[in-house]
Amino acid sequence: MFGENMVGAGELNPYENAKKQIDRACEHISVDDGVKTWLKHCEKELCVNFPVKMDDGSVRIFTGYRVQHNTARGPAKGGIRFAPDVNMDEVRALATWMTIKCAVVNIPYGGAKGGVTCDPTLLSDGEKERITRRFTYEIVPIIGPEKDIPAPDIGTDGQIMAWMMDTYSMLKGYDNYGAVTGKPIRVGGSRGRTSATGRGVMFCTREALKKKGINEKGARAVVQGFGNVGSWTAKLLHDNGVKIVGISDISGALYNNEGIDPYDLYEYALKNKMMIKGYPKAEEINEKDLFSLECDVLIPAAKENQITSSNADVIKAPIIVEGANGPTTPEGEKILLEKGVFIVPDILANAGGVTVSYFEWVQNRESLYWKEAEVNEKLEAIMLESFYDCLQYSEEHKVGMRDAAYILAIERIADAIKVRGVFP
Ligand code: GLU
Repeated sequence: MFGENMVGAGELNPYENAKKQIDRACEHISVDDGVKTWLKHCEKELCVNFPVKMDDGSVRIFTGYRVQHNTARGPAKGGIRFAPDVNMDEVRALATWMTIKCAVVNIPYGGAKGGVTCDPTLLSDGEKERITRRFTYEIVPIIGPEKDIPAPDIGTDGQIMAWMMDTYSMLKGYDNYGAVTGKPIRVGGSRGRTSATGRGVMFCTREALKKKGINEKGARAVVQGFGNVGSWTAKLLHDNGVKIVGISDISGALYNNEGIDPYDLYEYALKNKMMIKGYPKAEEINEKDLFSLECDVLIPAAKENQITSSNADVIKAPIIVEGANGPTTPEGEKILLEKGVFIVPDILANAGGVTVSYFEWVQNRESLYWKEAEVNEKLEAIMLESFYDCLQYSEEHKVGMRDAAYILAIERIADAIKVRGVFP
């Protein structure tokens, strides 16, 4: 991450940031102190160190995590990340954001997250499969369709979810499609799941542009990230007439004032190890200049801690829609809010993924599968309702959209806790 050395050490701990966000929202409502403290702890944390046989015959020990943050509103739900920097505090933060996210879009789940510290780009398919199966075996005691349901996140995909589901089913002795979401369609996946997060980001971008009085046709967008979320967001915005003037991934950043065709760029990336570097129909720019491009909307869709106190001031976009989880630190956000930037926070903007995961889980339970149009229609209804719920809260409480989303979520979680009571 650029600018990393220029910010205070505390600013980049995502779990501390998640807790700060809870504290900040609670200033605007009367929440029981016990509930507030509860939300700043994770209910269950599992760390596993497990062996895996590598292709060269050696045995390597990998570290993995599964954290369940809160289950007051339903079973825990959240993705599995395979990345070199996965650590306990990151997983705790991501699990906390899942609880809040599921409450914002009002689906009956709590929050969880998991991950394995590894670099999937350096692993063969066989190694990835053995890591996935052994990791699943290690966390089986705490997951399950009624307890905690994993899904894809950075570095994982439908194939990895299929291996997780298969391992879980083998251990239980019967097929259990609903134990994992984000699976390929032929093994119980939902139509529309792969594009769902990007589609949700697109709906939020559309509504944010409307709110700011900017015409979507011809609006200029900059997208950071060209993984599942970034690429689908860019494609769906392009379909709506939005011009993608800047885009980046780990290999570099591209700029074209006339707009970049994300479908063409995707075809290029497919032939280039999924990297966008060297794309001939755009100019290569320095990654740190991406955020200062003139545009109507900036979409960070890569990972956490990208907009911080060290670079928030260079942003010219009047709208930010967070495709990634935790891309903006509280210090970075303060600068943006002072400048009047309209921020659609991660816990709303990227909730399309978990919403369609919920649809997948429902379809698995019913063994009845929906058409893609039905999935997309139901997703749109939930995203729109949630966007306008948050907007209403933001106006009523005179706060930004993030605080509004937290207030709405915390009220819902606190209500569930109140009516359930505290066991025993
Ligand atoms: N990993 C995604 C997220 O951060 C999806 C989680 C899910 O589908 O359970 O929202």
